[in-house]
Amino acid sequence: MTPLPDLTLVVLVFASLAAATAVFGIGPFALGRGVPLDHIGLANAVAAGMMLGAAYGLLVVGLGLGKTAVAAGAALGIMFVVGTHTASGTEDLDLNRLDDRTDAYGYQVLLVNSLHSASEGVAIGAAMAVSRPFGVFMALAIAVHNIPEATVLCAILTGRGVGVVHAAGLAVAANVSQILLAVVAYAIIAAAPGSLPWALGFAVGALIQLTMSELLPESYRQTGHRSIALATVVAMGIVVFMRGFAA
Ligand SMILES: [Zn+2]
Repeated sequence: MTPLPDLTLVVLVFASLAAATAVFGIGPFALGRGVPLDHIGLANAVAAGMMLGAAYGLLVVGLGLGKTAVAAGAALGIMFVVGTHTASGTEDLDLNRLDDRTDAYGYQVLLVNSLHSASEGVAIGAAMAVSRPFGVFMALAIAVHNIPEATVLCAILTGRGVGVVHAAGLAVAANVSQILLAVVAYAIIAAAPGSLPWALGFAVGALIQLTMSELLPESYRQTGHRSIALATVVAMGIVVFMRGFAA
């Protein structure tokens, strides 16, 4: 197998860019407007659909490299999400429970956002190991999806009395794990190219598990089944369609 080009700096720059776009999530609150509850559900549905679209793109590439490794990697990704949720007691934690004002929920939602971002970092690192255009595409897709996710987090934080600037800072900080894991995943794959289908599978399993367990359950209740299903499927379709333009 030919060694990977050294794209560590490209991974670092694009993963940082993706993490930083979370700052735009504060937009409605910075303008002095709140976000209605049904829009919170929609924001999550858009983020969820983009994650499913990203997972589809990773899956298609991975299956061409090794079906068994992708399946095993996906199992590991699902186990990572389930295991970290279980270990931190957050297995039933929705990321958009605006009416929960307990201290524990405040800490847990930051922790869960941070763990959530870590898996998306693996997606960026693994995609960059496939090719630079695919890696850039993945980073941009994750960047755009970080905005509605940050809006939901900012709604929770500002609802608890956190100022707008601090809420934006925390939303970006929750994505630092995305940068770290993108660089680490790329470095591991560069050192051991055979791990690429495993890493792609890991990201696929983790992204889908996160979507189903964190983003969608509460959203259905907040916004209604038809709207959430439509927003999710359309957002997924757009990412899958756009993927066709990244070699
Ligand atoms: Zn996400």
